[in-house]
Amino acid sequence: MKPQTVRWTLPPTPDVDAVIVGSGPNGLVAAITLASAGWRVVVFEAASRPGGGTRSMELTLPGVVHDVCSAIHPLGLASPALRALPLADHGLEWVHPDVPLAHPLDGGRVALLHRSVAATAVGLGADGAAYRKLIEPFVRSGFDLTDGLLSPLSVPPKHPIELARYGITGIQPASRVARRFTTDEASGLIAGLAAHSMLSLGSLSTAGYAMMLGGLGHLVGWPMARGGSQSIADSLVGVLEDLGGSVVCGTRVTSLDELPPSRAVLLDLTPRQVLAIAGDRLPGRYARRLGRYRYGPGVFKLDLALAGPIPWTNTDVRRAATVHIGATMPEISAAEDDVLRGRHPERPFVLLAQHTVFDAARAPSGVHTAWAYCHVPNGSSVDMTDRIETQIERFAPGFRDLVIARHTMGPAGMEAHNANYVGGDINGGVADLRQFVARPTLGLHPWATPLDGLYLCSSSTPPGGGVHGMCGRHAAREVLRRQPLSD
Ligand SMILES: Cc1cc2nc3c(=O)[nH]c(=O)nc-3n(C[C@H](O)[C@H](O)[C@H](O)COP(=O)(O)OP(=O)(O)OC[C@H]3O[C@@H](n4cnc5c(N)ncnc54)[C@H](O)[C@@H]3O)c2cc1C
Repeated sequence: MKPQTVRWTLPPTPDVDAVIVGSGPNGLVAAITLASAGWRVVVFEAASRPGGGTRSMELTLPGVVHDVCSAIHPLGLASPALRALPLADHGLEWVHPDVPLAHPLDGGRVALLHRSVAATAVGLGADGAAYRKLIEPFVRSGFDLTDGLLSPLSVPPKHPIELARYGITGIQPASRVARRFTTDEASGLIAGLAAHSMLSLGSLSTAGYAMMLGGLGHLVGWPMARGGSQSIADSLVGVLEDLGGSVVCGTRVTSLDELPPSRAVLLDLTPRQVLAIAGDRLPGRYARRLGRYRYGPGVFKLDLALAGPIPWTNTDVRRAATVHIGATMPEISAAEDDVLRGRHPERPFVLLAQHTVFDAARAPSGVHTAWAYCHVPNGSSVDMTDRIETQIERFAPGFRDLVIARHTMGPAGMEAHNANYVGGDINGGVADLRQFVARPTLGLHPWATPLDGLYLCSSSTPPGGGVHGMCGRHAAREVLRRQPLSD
């Protein structure tokens, strides 16, 4: 990248080889990957603390820590990028609940996703054998498969047999795969897992989400970071600083012209912001393609401080840190379809985490937290607090009486917290089959832009959303391949 005029007035930056804009997990992993290769790097972050989607804050009461965005990290634990880093040396400790996931149903019933496939199958009764048949091949393939799914498309693929076996079922709609089951427990469990996609459960590839997230529950568990997700960010920053890199917070970049001279600039941003910052320099055809990139539904987030743990009707629900609330496949499917049609479901599908049951470090003694969100149309301004709480109360009567303090964030609040959440979309863009292949544009090297030295490294590039840092790692490797330091 050609040297640019430095117009900014922020702290003086020493000479750098690469500038990263945005300190989400992808930005930080990109910086670490380059620093490990001997590059001098600096990360500019708009917020006052690093971490993007992994930040934690005292949202309700002093001393009560809430994860503002990401809360549960199967992808973090399985990610080849994060597995390779000495994050534990910098304070990151994964806390595993007794059970990765609980899925309550009416009448006090529950489906539990245990670490063990066998125990899960036993709990699913009549559907136990069908569940084993669906998930066991995934679990047996272990990291070969998950590493393959998180890696760039290569020809030929690295683990063709595992990928083909996964792909044959994973490409299907979750609603079709759920027809293999006869119980509400098993089909509801699949629906909840698939609904993380924020797609219609009748859409192609939604079964793949269910298999991936369910399979990871067995393979690595669904852990949380002790003390809050912020410690993921803080440990990444620790690794980066050991390598000589640095993060400058409170620095919102509005144009490439503001950046100090460097060989490469990596944007941990989504296409809309990329256009705002660099659009005037990008070739028109590429800019138009970025302009056609699609964003998905938003989220409405509710954080609660509670006077006790949630009083679930079925006490087994308390064994899990993550709870999927929406009961049956038809109910969850209808709720997600409502959102995609621009409506607000009366009974939304709610994703809930009860951290303090497993991690006392997050709140003073006696105080508990609930982290919950539901999907809403992109840009929605409807307050979903009552609907989310009514769904929780349905499976935990008396829960509302425990609420001491509330904090809510709709799409506008999410976007104010992190500009990458355009209209409240937490995935960095729709993650359907089309935008899985063309993310953000079609090509074997989607991290590189046509502008020399400018790269994208956010969740709007493969493999997409989640705290795994793999978008950042791929982008940095693309930089190293195209611009070796010896040049
Ligand atoms: C409510 C919610 C729940 C979630 N739950 C989970 C979960 O449980 N598990 C999971 O794995 N994932 C979860 N996610 C998704 C996860 O947080 C994201 O996929 C992930 O953080 C994406 O990482 P990133 O590095 O691409 O971008 P981000 O983490 O979004 O980071 C981008 C950074 O860029 C900064 N930035 C933006 N514009 C500028 C600018 N102009 N100048 C400087 N800096 C800028 C932002 O402030 C931000 O720090 C959740 C997200 C949300 C919102």
